[in-house]
Amino acid sequence: MHATTRTMVKAKHIALVAHDNCKQQLLRWVMEHKEKLAGHILYATGTTGHMIAKASGLEVNCLLSGPMGGDQQLGAQISEGNIDMMIFFWDPLNAVPHDPDVKALLRISAVWNIPVATNRASANFMISSPMLDEEVEIEIPDYDAYIKERLG
Ligand code: PGA
Repeated sequence: MHATTRTMVKAKHIALVAHDNCKQQLLRWVMEHKEKLAGHILYATGTTGHMIAKASGLEVNCLLSGPMGGDQQLGAQISEGNIDMMIFFWDPLNAVPHDPDVKALLRISAVWNIPVATNRASANFMISSPMLDEEVEIEIPDYDAYIKERLG
């Protein structure tokens, strides 16, 4: 796969998602890092997003609830280069009805090379990175080259 680059501007588009058993953990994490997060543009799946907005007062762009299509909406935004990083506290101990969507969301994040934190420790590393507030170049698949090659 040919690669190209995409520039993430200083104010990052950050996606926040938590499965039900992890929502309190994410809410606590958001409150701990509220000041830093306020400088960025937040997106979230429906329930997570409304809970965060209510608890923190931060502005959150709420998509549909995860099981109702929110994970897929997020995946589409990632594919289009609209999301720069994702904090996704998925539940490793319980099954969720939308498991295929969860897998798809993690897969598409890997395809488009966005930073993903799946637990508090990795989220702490990510939020502490100096890159958070800098312009950053990331490598992404070269879609034009990809489609040209497929069409011969
Ligand atoms: P929710 O969705 O924020 O609407 O609960 C999260 C998810 O399960 O992806």
